[in-house]
Amino acid sequence: MPRIPASGTLVEVETDEGIVGYSMTHLPVSDRTLARYIEDVLGRIVVGKDPFMVEAIWRDVYNTCNRILFGIAQATSAVECAIWDVIGKALKTPVYRLLGGFKEKVRAYASFPFALKPKAASQMAETARKRGFNAVKVRIGEGLRRDEEIIRTVREEHPDIEIMVDANSGYETVREAVRLSEICEVYNVRWLEEPLPSDNLSALAELRARSGVDIAGGENDFSIFRFKEILDTGAYDIVQPDATRCGGILQCRKIAAMAEAYGVEATPHIFGFGLVMAANLQVIAASYNSPWMEYPLFPEEFYMLEEPIRVEDGYAVVPKEPGLGVRLNFETIERFLEKS
Ligand SMILES: [Mg+2]
Repeated sequence: MPRIPASGTLVEVETDEGIVGYSMTHLPVSDRTLARYIEDVLGRIVVGKDPFMVEAIWRDVYNTCNRILFGIAQATSAVECAIWDVIGKALKTPVYRLLGGFKEKVRAYASFPFALKPKAASQMAETARKRGFNAVKVRIGEGLRRDEEIIRTVREEHPDIEIMVDANSGYETVREAVRLSEICEVYNVRWLEEPLPSDNLSALAELRARSGVDIAGGENDFSIFRFKEILDTGAYDIVQPDATRCGGILQCRKIAAMAEAYGVEATPHIFGFGLVMAANLQVIAASYNSPWMEYPLFPEEFYMLEEPIRVEDGYAVVPKEPGLGVRLNFETIERFLEKS
């Protein structure tokens, strides 16, 4: 299978007063397609509107473009996040305070970018510890025997950290997934993420009923309606909407609120560069039932921020700059742009 390189689409929204809002989305099938779609379609709907009427803008986009799926969900989400950056900058306030702040510091877990052999996964956990983490998410989905070896090695060499595992929809049957959840239980895994195809909600619900560890998922799902179905089915203990995929900051906040009423955690998925982290972190800071921040473990320059969000003693401090809370490092962005 050809590998698609990691990439992100940077979205810029500028107001007539000269305020510029930014956002980014990660791993679209094609950045050019997404950019073209934003220019050709979303631009025509969004330009000329009052950014403070962000919910009305979102409805216009949704009603005009709904149900043409993935690329479009990312575009809609990124444009909405950039509008929130504008709103925050206009009011000189970080977005979480506008949504209704709940916390200013959040537990962060280091998320490994790819599946690794057992020893390498353990070394990656060591790297994470040196960067201030005491929780790591390990990629699995390599077959039960190999997965057990990976989890066992990381647990034995790091008995005192939290371990999450992510199978990225790597198993097909409930039987195998139940077996995997039993392995996770033995090694005290905090949650098992996407053990089965994330479209197979009834199978996930069956697994959840039989699993001793929490089942997590939802990173590629869009809108309150889909998450209502997910919550009604009882597919997950932890839903993982991503503000840059699920429809934007306000959709993500609404999904977290729905999950709260179901007694389900909403721990946003964050996989991407600094602006993807920043947008989701604003929602996390405004949500009671979002106890964790996912932190993709890249080299620092990949975040493309003036001040990378850093982790100390397992916690990240929510950035306080206006809007999404961060400033972009345009020098690094230029350098990456040249390469693409
Ligand atoms: Mg995941």
